[in-house]
Amino acid sequence: MQNKSFSDFKSHAQDIVQTDIIEAESLLLSHQWSQLQQTIETIRQKIKQSGLWAPHLPQDIGGQGLTVSQLGEFSAILGQSPLGHVCFGCQAPDAGNAELLHLYADDRIKKQFLIPLASGAIRSCFAMTEPAMAGSNPTRLGASAELKDGHWHINGHKWFTTGADGADFAIIMAVTEPKAAKHQQASMIIVPTDTPGYSLVRNISVMGSEGDGYFSHGEVKFTDVKVPQHNLLGQRGDGFLMAQQRLGPGRIQHCMRWIGIARRCFDIMCRHVKQRHITDTQTLAQQPVIQVKIADSYAAIEAAQHLVQATAERIDKEGYAAARHAISMIKFHTAQMLQQVMNHAIQALGGLGVTDDTVLSFFYREERAARIYDGPDEVHQLSLAKQLLAKFD
Ligand SMILES: Cc1cc2nc3c(=O)[nH]c(=O)nc-3n(C[C@H](O)[C@H](O)[C@H](O)COP(=O)(O)OP(=O)(O)OC[C@H]3O[C@@H](n4cnc5c(N)ncnc54)[C@H](O)[C@@H]3O)c2cc1C
Repeated sequence: MQNKSFSDFKSHAQDIVQTDIIEAESLLLSHQWSQLQQTIETIRQKIKQSGLWAPHLPQDIGGQGLTVSQLGEFSAILGQSPLGHVCFGCQAPDAGNAELLHLYADDRIKKQFLIPLASGAIRSCFAMTEPAMAGSNPTRLGASAELKDGHWHINGHKWFTTGADGADFAIIMAVTEPKAAKHQQASMIIVPTDTPGYSLVRNISVMGSEGDGYFSHGEVKFTDVKVPQHNLLGQRGDGFLMAQQRLGPGRIQHCMRWIGIARRCFDIMCRHVKQRHITDTQTLAQQPVIQVKIADSYAAIEAAQHLVQATAERIDKEGYAAARHAISMIKFHTAQMLQQVMNHAIQALGGLGVTDDTVLSFFYREERAARIYDGPDEVHQLSLAKQLLAKFD
């Protein structure tokens, strides 16, 4: 954020979202993938020239070095469009992967993978979840990596590897220390996707759409994949520790992105009910039932935003460990709020709400999963409840 106040930074981003980015959504909604990719590249150039690229990354690798709470506010602006984060170079999973590489990779790996990832020249994916194992308990993994003759020999079957389609490398979570304690068995290893034995089996069809590129979730196989020993990130057995580091800031960004989505759905709902006549003299906006939904949605969004911002500020002041339970709370609370607001908006638009003529149905299809990825609601609720109940021992 060189030579710019944070409020100038935000209003510049807001202008780009409102003009260029929202206009490009029609390409996404009509699945014109190659034209969409070209348009994204053009918008990215403008964003780079405006000094807004990669707000999540440190300045020494071309980012803007925002604090966690600033990044949260920024994420709410970008979240108004499904293309916002992609255009600004801070989309999942590249954002979290770049943060991991920045923290844990040696200079050789940084040069080979981090620098091109940070500039948007290459893409990545993160392969932890497996079809055969409950992802809610990621300490149980079937994938394994054995060190022989200076190479990791990797076998595993993963799915929901977001953005695997077109990714240049995957970070796989695999068991390297089978005899260690449960939380110290897995490690993260970089696998370039052109390595023999790596295969993208398919883009999983999610609620009727296989998506493409950034907007897809892959099933991937690692069959006798061999990569050099130095492709290990951090220390052997530190995979879970590092995953926690990766998910901490990621959860603030997800929650604030969901707040951006909820605000966009809210605006679409309000604009629609104001102009939709149900009699010659009455609009939907004049109906008390609709007014209650407008008020409830607004209150829910505001409450969630205050909670998330307070959590982000706590992280900036006291670190992730101190905010661990607050992070669990905002994860399930904000995801549930989002689902409620999207649902009200779709209902208020009637048949139009379920078409692809507005962005509502895309959000609804893609973000039902907000209550599942990065830990399902129940996992976060259990963790928070245990901590609260412990005070009554
Ligand atoms: C859109 C999307 C994108 C994703 N992207 C990635 C990615 O890029 N990389 C990656 O590795 N993974 C990714 N995932 C996987 C995601 O992290 C897992 O889906 C998640 O951890 C849940 O694991 P599971 O699907 O195996 O569900 P399971 O673990 O089988 O759980 C099923 C359900 O059981 C319930 N449940 C779970 N535990 C408990 C409990 N203790 N008590 C009560 N109920 C419980 C929850 O309702 C849960 O939804 C993605 C998933 C989705 C949907």
